[in-house]
Amino acid sequence: MSERFHNFSAGPAVLPVPVLEEVREELLCYPGAGASVMEISHRSEAFDAIHAMAKDNIKALLNLPDDYQILFLQGGASLQFSMLAMNFLNGGAADYVECGTWAQKAIGEAKKHGTPRIVWSGKAENFKRMPRPDEVSVGADAAYLHLTSNETIQGVEMFDLPDAGKTPVFCDASSNFLSRPTGITKYALMYAGAQKNIGPSGVAVALLRKDLLERVPANLPSLLDYKLMAENDSLYNTPPCFGIYMIGKVTGWIRNTIGGLDAMEALNRKKANLLYSVIDASGGFYKGHAEVQNRSLMNVTFILDGGDLEKRFIKEATAAGLDGLKGHRSVGGCRASIYNALPLEGVQALHDFMVEFQKKNG
Ligand SMILES: *Cc1c(COP(=O)(O)O)cnc(C)c1O
Repeated sequence: MSERFHNFSAGPAVLPVPVLEEVREELLCYPGAGASVMEISHRSEAFDAIHAMAKDNIKALLNLPDDYQILFLQGGASLQFSMLAMNFLNGGAADYVECGTWAQKAIGEAKKHGTPRIVWSGKAENFKRMPRPDEVSVGADAAYLHLTSNETIQGVEMFDLPDAGKTPVFCDASSNFLSRPTGITKYALMYAGAQKNIGPSGVAVALLRKDLLERVPANLPSLLDYKLMAENDSLYNTPPCFGIYMIGKVTGWIRNTIGGLDAMEALNRKKANLLYSVIDASGGFYKGHAEVQNRSLMNVTFILDGGDLEKRFIKEATAAGLDGLKGHRSVGGCRASIYNALPLEGVQALHDFMVEFQKKNG
C-alpha cells in the first residue's frame, strides 16, 4: 500500500500529516544541529530547545500553573500504574474507580504496593458508563483517588468529575489527553501514554503537582522515583528523545494549527457526532455500547447483530480504505478511534460507508 488509509487504530494511532511532513524534512538534519534529533546528545543546546518547546506547548494548551512538573517518562502508561502506586500508595490505601479494562489494570498493579479500594464499579453493567459524581465517595484516609478519564476499549468517557475534597485526584488520560479543555488544576497527577493523541509510543507524559513530591519515599528505583525525575527535569538518564521531539511537534500543531483545546474539542465533537448520529438513526442496525451521557469523543464502540455481518463490515471497510475498526480482542465488536489527528474527512468517509453498508444489508 503506498497511499495512507483512514486510520482508526486505537494506538499507536494516526499522527497529523503536516507534522509527519515537517519531521520528514528534519529527519536528516534538525535545523542548526548538524544531525537528526536521534543522533545528538540529550544534553545539547538543540535538544534543550526541543524539550523546552514540548513543555511550553503542553503548559500553554492546559494553562498549567507553575506548581506542576511536566515529566517525560518511559514504560508507557502501564508503568505509571506501578510508579504512582510505589510513590504514593506505598503500603497504604487509595480509592479507585473501576470503569473499564484500563482501570482494572491500574488496580491490579496497585495491589502489589498497597490496598486499592474500588469505590465505584461499572463491571456489573459491562462498563457502559462512568459514575455520576454523587456515586463516588472518597475515604478520608485515601492517599488519592484514581480515575481513568476515557476507557479506550469500552469507549466511555468521563465528563463530570467526582468530588474528592482534599484528596489528590490522579487520572489516566492516555486516550483523551489534550483532546479538550480539562480544568487541569482539579488533578494532582495526570498521565498519558503519547501514542493515542500526542505522539509515538515509547514516551509517557506525567503532570504532577509539585507538593506531592514531598511524599515520595526514599530508595525507590531511580527511574521510578518522581522526585528524582523531577529534580533532573526528566533527564536523569537518556530520555526518549525522538518521542519528546514528536510530542513537541504534535502539541505545536494543536496549539498553532488547530488553535488550542477549545478548537480541538469543537472538531472532536463534530467528528464524534457524525458517527453517533449514524448509530442513532440506524434503528438498531448499529448498536452503540456506551450510554449516551458517557459516549467517548475518542473511541466510538458499537456492534452489528446477526451472523457474519460484523466480520463483513470490517472486511469491506478495510477494503474501502477505512482501517483499524475491529474492536479490542477482549470485547469484540467494532471500534472507531477518532483521536485528535484523525481528520474530519476520515470520519466523514466512515460515516458515508456506514450509511451505505446499512442500505445494502439492513
Ligand atoms: C493505551 C492505554 C494504556 C496503556 O498504555 P501503554 O502506553 O501501552 O502502557 C493505559 N490506559 C489507557 C486509558 C490507555 O488507552
